[in-house]
Amino acid sequence: MNRILIVEDEPRLAAFLEKGLRAAGFTTTAVGDGPAAIATARDDDFDLMLLDVGLPVVDGFGVLQAVRGAGQRLPVIMLTARDETSDKIAGLESGADDYMTKPFVFDELLARVRVRLRAEGTKASTVLSEAGITLDLRARRAEVDGRSVELSAREFTMLETFLRHPRQVLSREQLLSHVWGYDFDPGSNVVDVYVGYLRKKLGKGRFQTVRGMGYSLSDQP
Ligand code: CA
Repeated sequence: MNRILIVEDEPRLAAFLEKGLRAAGFTTTAVGDGPAAIATARDDDFDLMLLDVGLPVVDGFGVLQAVRGAGQRLPVIMLTARDETSDKIAGLESGADDYMTKPFVFDELLARVRVRLRAEGTKASTVLSEAGITLDLRARRAEVDGRSVELSAREFTMLETFLRHPRQVLSREQLLSHVWGYDFDPGSNVVDVYVGYLRKKLGKGRFQTVRGMGYSLSDQP
C-alpha cells in the first residue's frame, strides 16, 4: 500500500485530501507546517508528498529544498494558489515532480498521484546489469553473457552486492556484513571461498583481487 504525506495548513483541505486518498486505498499522514513536514518526511518512509506552497514557518519551497537536500527522492506534487504561476515554475525547478493549481478537482489530483507512483515503480528496477552479468532480483536468476548460471542463495547475494557497487573495491568486512550480516567471525575466510565459487561459475577474471583491500567487479571474463 502506498503511503502519502499531505502537507497542508488549511484543515478543511487537508481533511478532504485525506478522506479522498484513503477511500482510494492510500495510507495518509497530514501535517500543517513546514518544520513538521521536514521532520515527518525524514523520520518516516513515504512514497509521495503533496506539498502546499503557502505554509506557516517554512513554506513549500523551503520544505522541498530540505527534503531534496537530505537526499530524499520521493515524488512531490506541489499545490499552488491560482495566481502563483511563477511559483509553479520555481517549484518544478527546485525539484518538484508536478503541481496542481487550487482549486482542483479531486479526480485529477488522484490521476496525477497514480501517474507519479507508477513512474516511480518502473524506475525501481528489479534487474541489475553490469560487466556482462545480469541479475533478475525478483526471479532470482543470473545470466552471464546471455547464458544462465545456477547460484546458491549466498552466491546470489554476494554477486548482487558486487553489482550494486560496480566501480568500487569491496573489503572482506563489507562483503561479510552485506552477505552474512553481522553474525560472522571477522577472521573467517568465507569471503575468499565464495569469491572463488563465483569465479568458477562466472569466469576467473570477473573479480579482481585488490591486494590488502578486497575485491572488485571487473568486465574481463
Ligand atoms: Ca496554504
